[in-house]
Amino acid sequence: MNSLQKEISACRICAERFAATETAHQPRPVVWFQPGTSVLIAGQAPGARVHASSRPFTDPSGDRLRGWLGVDEAVFYDRSQVSIVPMAFCFPGYDTRKADLPPPPVCGKTWHNKVMQTLGEIPLTILVGGHAHKYHLHVRSSVTETVRNWRDHAPRVFALPHPSWRNTAWMKKNPWFQTDLLPVLRARVQEVLND
Ligand code: SF4
Repeated sequence: MNSLQKEISACRICAERFAATETAHQPRPVVWFQPGTSVLIAGQAPGARVHASSRPFTDPSGDRLRGWLGVDEAVFYDRSQVSIVPMAFCFPGYDTRKADLPPPPVCGKTWHNKVMQTLGEIPLTILVGGHAHKYHLHVRSSVTETVRNWRDHAPRVFALPHPSWRNTAWMKKNPWFQTDLLPVLRARVQEVLND
């Protein structure tokens, strides 16, 4: 681990905030990035399963995301090729509907610029969910609108919805996502990984 990775791993800024949630958990940052990466997956925040495993996307959302990208677990978890940087490094807890709380903004404010500086030039950035769209693209549009305009940012950046089961209906309503966007994304992933 480099010094920034160590600093983030030791971060406890949100200890009181997390202690006040229903799960009353402690911060457990999931740090998964390396300078010189070919692919950056910019996500939202770890869920409860990832909090337990300390590996990003070890859940059904991860299975769906790997399917979207056309990569297996060996490639997805190869940190020399793929970095995974969410808008918050820790599980934020649940809201009253048992949905994950949004990433605490303090995490992005504290760490994100430093992480992006460490990563340097990245051939392919994949933005997963509205929080990542807002930070990386500075957009205020809805997730659907941002994803629908994916050609504005490709091939260096692709904006995707979150791969959660909650978006299954969204995928049915927007079939162009699977027929038009995903084939281009998969080809680009292969291109940068083989470069
Ligand atoms: S979410 Fe971010 S800022 Fe909060 S404790 Fe975890 S690493 Fe620190």
